[in-house]
Amino acid sequence: MRERDDVSQINRRDFLKTAGVAGAALALPGTPSGAARAAAQTRANQTTAKGKKKKVIVVGAGLAGLVATYELDRAGHDVTLLEAQLRPGGRVLTWRQEFSDGLYAEAGASRILNTHELTLRYARECKLDLAPYSPAKGNFVNQVGGVDAAAPAGGHVHWPVALTAAEERMGRIGMWMHYAEREAKQLGNPAAPGWSPESFADLDTITFAQFLRRRGASAGAVRVMLLGMDYGNVSALRVLTEMAANGAVTAQYKIAGGMDLLPRALAERLSARIQYGAAVQTIEHDKKGVRAGYLQGNLLRTLAVDYLICTIPFPALRRVQFTPLLSDYKQTAVANTSYMPAALAIGQERRRYWLSSGDNGFARSDWPIEVSSPTFDQPGQRGLLTAMLTGDLARRVSGLPEDRRITTVLNEVETIFPGARENFEGAVTKSWDDDFWARGAWQWFHTGQMTAYGPYMATPEGRVHFAGEHTSPWAGWMEGAVQSGVRAAKEVEDAA
Ligand SMILES: Cc1cc2nc3c(=O)[nH]c(=O)nc-3n(C[C@H](O)[C@H](O)[C@H](O)COP(=O)(O)OP(=O)(O)OC[C@H]3O[C@@H](n4cnc5c(N)ncnc54)[C@H](O)[C@@H]3O)c2cc1C
Repeated sequence: MRERDDVSQINRRDFLKTAGVAGAALALPGTPSGAARAAAQTRANQTTAKGKKKKVIVVGAGLAGLVATYELDRAGHDVTLLEAQLRPGGRVLTWRQEFSDGLYAEAGASRILNTHELTLRYARECKLDLAPYSPAKGNFVNQVGGVDAAAPAGGHVHWPVALTAAEERMGRIGMWMHYAEREAKQLGNPAAPGWSPESFADLDTITFAQFLRRRGASAGAVRVMLLGMDYGNVSALRVLTEMAANGAVTAQYKIAGGMDLLPRALAERLSARIQYGAAVQTIEHDKKGVRAGYLQGNLLRTLAVDYLICTIPFPALRRVQFTPLLSDYKQTAVANTSYMPAALAIGQERRRYWLSSGDNGFARSDWPIEVSSPTFDQPGQRGLLTAMLTGDLARRVSGLPEDRRITTVLNEVETIFPGARENFEGAVTKSWDDDFWARGAWQWFHTGQMTAYGPYMATPEGRVHFAGEHTSPWAGWMEGAVQSGVRAAKEVEDAA
């Protein structure tokens, strides 16, 4: 019998399930409610509740830029949001037209953790409905070396790798808690003022897999714990910090109708403030102000303002020319911060054949691949299976022509859910490394990077402020984007 996992185990990053880790309380600026609303009433004047009305450019209409614009706009400032693409959302990307029968799937962010308070707050504010991320019923498949983890009725899951007797008893989530939870707790609150990665520098010298081995995990346990995602050279400190920030996760949601409804709802409210097709190429700044040069169509335009908030992911920011140059520290961070490579193939299957074997369409394996079925709660016979590849495998598959990408992934999905080939109608793929406006899936510090670059990711350079998931303790999540947008808006609001 295949393993029937608890639904809450379905997670790209399972360490999140460490129930004992205290949620990181975010010192929230007093943005949304009272003060900001009062400020908005003074919009017609030249002052806001907090002082002089400022002219601000925000670059990038991902969640970070949208939230920063939203907060500054409602505080009464004069904001222009410049977005290179013709749509808002950045790495929140829902595909609808690609599939038949009204089915849709996520090519970017797909789940919201119950501890991601800010994301949930904006979703509520935009009157969006939440739905469970995954089905409550059916087998969740775990595969190691092509072999299913087996769960005899009423017994422990048997993993097809050598584990100690204690590890067998703990189970996968138990191992996460046993080997990683205590250190994550000891990091304290990474969102607290003054928290610095330098205090935990030793954890930044080793990979997360090395850390687990040092904590006593067997080689088999490490393999089981890291199923579904390529942890590669990621710094142990990076993983543990994210764990501490995310806190005690007990549920996961998605936005009913598609994750892009959140950025679209914000963008709709800000429509007059946004310029699409506006690719920023140069940023000049001095003590008096900031000037952005951007290409829109074939016109080179410039806009001069008091402050600028830049949310461009660092790999894409490498193409933007700053005058004067950014500080050495910032330049080094921009040039070297690692991002996780991720590639997705979303296949349309004639029928949801996996249900007849009791499977729910969700799985992870050590290829590494994570499979999900975004259509489990959508009407119809047809179903979609999303396969997400990460790390070196994602790079290798991204390097293939589209048809070979698809057959390579389809063959792997076939080993997990036999019948994929038989019922296959077609697939679309997305490589986030190839995405010109991101060049990576999410910030993913390799060993040594968090202490070297972490302290400089979010620091302003004169009148230029920085936001985006990569600048937040919640890096890699929409929560990081939203939190950084709120923070950067507050920085500009408070700037003299
Ligand atoms: C495959 C994948 C799965 C994920 N899964 C989850 C998940 O399940 N849950 C979760 O919470 N998070 C998830 N994430 C992470 C989440 O999507 C991101 O953390 C978040 O969306 C980042 O928002 P952002 O505003 O920081 O950056 P972005 O969304 O990348 O926004 C940056 C914007 O800047 C624009 N831009 C770039 N260069 C320029 C320029 N020169 N001029 C003007 N505009 C420019 C881009 O077009 C883009 O719109 C996932 C990400 C990926 C890729």
